[in-house]
Amino acid sequence: MANILVTGGCGYIGSHTVVELLGDPSCQVTILDNLSNSKRSVLDRIERITSRRPGFVQADIRDGAALSRALGEIRPDAVIHFAGLKAVGESCQKPLEYYDNNVCGSLRLLEAMREHGVKNIVFSSSATVYGTPANPRIPETEPVKRGNSPYAQTKVDIEWMLEDWHRADSSVSVCILRYFNPVGAHQSGLMGEDPLGIPNNLMPYIAQVSVGRLPHLNIWGNDYPTPDGTCIRDYIHVVDLARGHMAALSHCLNRPGLYAYNLGAGRGISVQQIVDAYNAILEKPISYVYGPRRPGDIAEYYADATKAAEELGWRTEHGVEDIVRDTYRWQKANPEGYPGD
Ligand code: NAD
Ligand code: UDP
Repeated sequence: MANILVTGGCGYIGSHTVVELLGDPSCQVTILDNLSNSKRSVLDRIERITSRRPGFVQADIRDGAALSRALGEIRPDAVIHFAGLKAVGESCQKPLEYYDNNVCGSLRLLEAMREHGVKNIVFSSSATVYGTPANPRIPETEPVKRGNSPYAQTKVDIEWMLEDWHRADSSVSVCILRYFNPVGAHQSGLMGEDPLGIPNNLMPYIAQVSVGRLPHLNIWGNDYPTPDGTCIRDYIHVVDLARGHMAALSHCLNRPGLYAYNLGAGRGISVQQIVDAYNAILEKPISYVYGPRRPGDIAEYYADATKAAEELGWRTEHGVEDIVRDTYRWQKANPEGYPGD
């Protein structure tokens, strides 16, 4: 297919995407990552799954000279840009670090791409750019709003930077992907989500409860206006998401333009339904307590995923049972996450 540079390719979504890319024998892959939220041993796992080892450059996307060197040597056809900080709560405590890492880092990357004539980019955005939507089912025509956290605002800023670059140079091809809730793990049990410290997100939290690393789950709110009172989200299996990147990359390379797609399953699942799905496969059920609502949570939202289906020919293939089975397999085999520092 092509020669691809993957920023943040050692992280959760990036590593699963690298596995899909390496599954195409005509695809050359180099990861550029500063390992601030990932471990080098991910590369061994990728090699075990694919029998191929991606190139690796340890560098920070804010380091313009290192980026220029890497792009000059690799000469990629396209960049898939995952690198960034992603914790909403932390971004409220450290907004300047988030703008520096995400926005300044992306700007350095685009400058290096322009310098070396690299004109194709697929970017990891987020459904958070929609803020509080008018309706729970969100199409891409929903307006992008001022972010309700510094993290969300960095995604809005980068989307606008990419749009403006394309407007100034129409040969630049941009594919913005707005993820809903990425969850799950590779079915080999060799790769999955490995958060630092106590997880904030639902799936890694339940996964750690399931293996006894955490005592119980707190369900944040059971008095929402939803059928069982708990919040509803669009959980998407990370392997489906990775395949969405393959479809987007091919579209970006073959039909240059400016595109934005929702990547979600197109259906809502409640927190209670996730817990029930987990309990269906466990001998010892997940213990949980209902707590207060978490500030800032929206009762219900999920993707309208028809645009990606129609234009990219992509749709999700994994259901909630696959998600909990694969998450549990990964967590059980790697209770402390990836080996190494
Ligand atoms: P992750 O933290 O697992 O992966 C990000 C990777 O980028 C890590 O390996 C980290 O070391 C690297 N990185 C961070 N800052 C860097 C820098 N300055 N220079 C070089 N490398 C750097 O996160 P993820 O869940 O795989 O998310 C990937 C992308 O998708 C992020 O941009 C994130 O904002 C976006 N996203 C994630 C979610 C989610 O729920 N996981 C949802 C929507 C969007
Ligand atoms: N949630 C929960 N307990 C937790 C973590 C999350 O009940 O320990 C709920 C949270 O309130 C939300 C849903 O699970 O309704 C998904 O939260 P997550 O942080 O995974 O993703 P978000 O949709 O907030 O990005």
